[in-house]
Amino acid sequence: MNMRAPAHLLIIMALWASILMSCNQKQTSGEGQQMNAFIDDLMGKMTLEEKLGQLNLPASGDIITGAGSNSNIAEKIREGKVGGLFNIKTAEKIRAVQQIAVEQSRLKIPLIFGMDVIHGYQTVFPIPLGMSCSWDMDLIEKSARIAAQEASADGICWTFSPMVDISRDPRWGRVSEGSGEDPYLGSQIAKAMVKGYQGDDLRKNNTILSCVKHFALYGAPEAGRDYNTTDMSRIRMYNEYLPPYKAAIDAGVGTVMTSFNEIDGIPATANKWLMTDLLRNEWGFNGFVVTDYTAILEMVDHGLGNLKEVSALALRAGTDMDMVADGFLNTLKESLDEGKVTRQEIDQACRRILVAKYKLGLFEDPYRYCDETRSKTEIFTPENRQAAREIAAQTFVLLKNENQVLPLQNKKTIALVGPLADNRENMTGTWSVAADFSKSVSLLDGLKNALGSDTNVLYAMGTNVVSDVQLDARISIFGKPTKWDNRSQKEMVAEAVAVARKSDVVVAAVGESAEMSGEASSRSDISLPENQRELLEALLATGKPVVMVLFTGRPLTISWEKANVPAILNVWFAGTEAGDAIADVLLGKVNPSGKLSATFPQNVGQIPIFYNHKNTGRPLADGAWFQKFRSNYLDVSNDPLYPFGFGLSYTTFGYKNLKLSDSSLTLDGQLKVSVEVTNSGNYDGAEVVQLYLRDMAGTVTRPVKELKGFQKVFLKKGETRTVEFTLTEKDLRFYNGNLKFASEPGDFKVYIGTSSANTLEADFALK
Ligand code: BGC
Repeated sequence: MNMRAPAHLLIIMALWASILMSCNQKQTSGEGQQMNAFIDDLMGKMTLEEKLGQLNLPASGDIITGAGSNSNIAEKIREGKVGGLFNIKTAEKIRAVQQIAVEQSRLKIPLIFGMDVIHGYQTVFPIPLGMSCSWDMDLIEKSARIAAQEASADGICWTFSPMVDISRDPRWGRVSEGSGEDPYLGSQIAKAMVKGYQGDDLRKNNTILSCVKHFALYGAPEAGRDYNTTDMSRIRMYNEYLPPYKAAIDAGVGTVMTSFNEIDGIPATANKWLMTDLLRNEWGFNGFVVTDYTAILEMVDHGLGNLKEVSALALRAGTDMDMVADGFLNTLKESLDEGKVTRQEIDQACRRILVAKYKLGLFEDPYRYCDETRSKTEIFTPENRQAAREIAAQTFVLLKNENQVLPLQNKKTIALVGPLADNRENMTGTWSVAADFSKSVSLLDGLKNALGSDTNVLYAMGTNVVSDVQLDARISIFGKPTKWDNRSQKEMVAEAVAVARKSDVVVAAVGESAEMSGEASSRSDISLPENQRELLEALLATGKPVVMVLFTGRPLTISWEKANVPAILNVWFAGTEAGDAIADVLLGKVNPSGKLSATFPQNVGQIPIFYNHKNTGRPLADGAWFQKFRSNYLDVSNDPLYPFGFGLSYTTFGYKNLKLSDSSLTLDGQLKVSVEVTNSGNYDGAEVVQLYLRDMAGTVTRPVKELKGFQKVFLKKGETRTVEFTLTEKDLRFYNGNLKFASEPGDFKVYIGTSSANTLEADFALK
C-alpha cells in the first residue's frame, strides 16, 4: 500500500482488508473463490442504482478542468453513479478523484481509470501501422510494456488498446491505428500487445488492463468512410477479419470495446450474436465489454429505437459498460421495471466490472497506480526514449533506392525541405494524448543532432502540407498545427529550389500531417497533395538527387513519385524520437528492414486491394494485363504499387534452395520447410523471411496466398543462413462452409520470399 495514504483512508482500507479476510476464511480453496466470495458479499450490499453506477463510464469532463471536487462528475462519484473515468491523467489528479470514490461514496468502490494509450504514453512509439511494419514481436511487446509502465506511473490502469481491426481500405483514416491487412500478422501483434500491457500479473502496479477494439469489423466500412456501414459474409469474417480479436482473447485480454458499425444490420453494441454467442460462448471471453464513445446513444441514429430501448438492447446483447452515453445509468431501472431487462443481466455486467477491478488489485489498494514518485522517475526517461528511437528505426520501409542514393554519406551540404521537416508537433501521429508534442524530435532536429560541423543542413519549408486553407484547418487539430505559411506557393518553392541548388543532396520531408489519418479522417484521394508534388517536381528539376522521406498514416497512391523520385523512405509517424530515428536510417547508422503490412494501391479505383485475395473463375495470369473476359481493369493493371510484405534494405538478400523435409504432411506430423538466405550486398542488415501457403482446392474457395509464418533474421554482409519453418496440420486449417475450423487433405503450395510478390515455391500434400 502507498505510504502516503492519510489516516482515515487507512481505516477504510483496513475495513476492506477485513472483508477480504472474512471471505478468505469462508473460502479456503483458490483465489477465484476468494474473489467470488468478496464480490458476492459486496454485491449483496449494493442497491440497483449503485450497480448501474458501476456500468457507467463517463469521460473525465469538468473534474479536470473545473471545480475539482465540486464538479458534476465528483457529485456522481459520491452518489455511486460512476464505475470508472477516462481521459484523466497524472497520479495526483487520479488520486484525488479516487479519494472521492473510496472515501465519500457509500460503498467506497474504487474507480477504474482508462485512457487511449495507443502507441506509447509520453514516450510515443510509431503509429500502430508503422509498428506492424517492424514484423518484430519482441519490439512490439516491449513498446506496449513501456507504455504500460509509463501510463501506470501516471495513475492509469486501463488502456483502450490494441486496435486490431483488419483493413483493406486506405481511404479509412483509422488504418493508421491498426496492423494492416493480414489476419496472421495482425494476430501475432494482438498477442504481443496484450502481453506487453498486461504482463503476467495484473495486480502489479506497472501492468495495466488491455482492451481489444473495435469489436468487430470496424476496418471494413463502405467506401472507407469512417463510422459507415459494414456488411460481410460470415465466412469472410471468420477467416479474414476476426482472427486478431480472437488472438487477443486467447492471450487473455481483460476487456473488449464494441465497434460503431453494424454487423448483419445490428450495431455491434447491441449485437447479441457478436457479444454473447461468438465472444463469450464460442471464444470463452470472461472479461467485460465496454462500448465505444457514445455508441449506445448512436444506436438511436442507427434507427434502433430511443435511448431507453437501445440501452436495454445493448445490455441484453452482452455489453457491460456504457462509455459516455449515460444510457445504462439513466434508463435501465425503468427497463427493469418494465421487464425489458432482468436483474440478472444487470448483476452479471456489474460483476464483470468488479472482477476486473479486483484483478487489478484496486480493492486491496485503490491508489496502486497513484505513486507520484514513479510518475517523476518512470515517464519519458532517457532509456524509454532510446528504446523508442531504436524501435522507430525498425518500422521504416525503404520503398525505392535507385543508384544507392541512400544512405547519405560524405555530404557537405544537405538541403532539408518540405512541410514536415521542421514540425515537432506532427511527429507522433494520431492518438498520442499524453505526449508533449514540443518535446518530439523533428527531422531537422534529428539531422542536426547527428551531423557534425562538416555537414551543413540548409532548411526551407518549400510548401504547405495542403494548399486549401479550409482543409488545413481540418487537419491542424489536437495541438498539431501544420504551421501554415502565408507566402505564395511560388515564393516557397523558389526558396526550396535555391537551397537545393546549393546542396549535394535534397531530403524532401513530405506527406500527410498527423491528423490527416486517424479517427474521422477518411480521404477519397490518397495521393500526395498537389502542391507537394509540385515542390518535388521543382526539386527534381534541379538535377540534384532527391530523397523523399514520406510521412503518412496510410498507404498512399504515389505512382508518380515511385516513377520519378530516386529514393523513397516511408517513415509513417515515428513518435517522439522520430527525427533521430530517421536520421539514423538516412545516414546509414541503421539499415532499414521494415516490410509493408498493407498493400499500396496504384490508384483509388483498385481499392480494396490486398494480397490474400481469391483467384476467381477468370484469373489474370501473373504479370499479364490486359486480357478481355479476364478479371482485370481496362485502365490499370491488377498489380499493387507496392505489395504486402515489401521493403528494401541498403543491402540485398538472395533466396535459394527452398527445401521440404517431405512431399507430404500427415495429420499428426510435421513438415520442415527451409530456405537459404544470403546477404549478398554491402551492408549488414535484417530481413523478414516470409512464408505463405496456398490451399489448391477446398470445399470453399481459398486465397491465392496466406501468410503463415515469418522470421526476422539479421545477417552480416556475405553471410548465408538456412531459415527453417515447421508446418503442421494446424497451419492448414480454415473456417469451412459450416464455419468449422478444419483442414482438408489435398495439394498445397508453400512460398518463401522477401515479400508476398517475390517468392520461391514448392508443393506438398496433406494426407
Ligand atoms: C474511439 C475509440 C477510443 C474512444 C475513447 C472513440 O472515439 O473510436 O478508439 O478508444 O473514443 O477515447
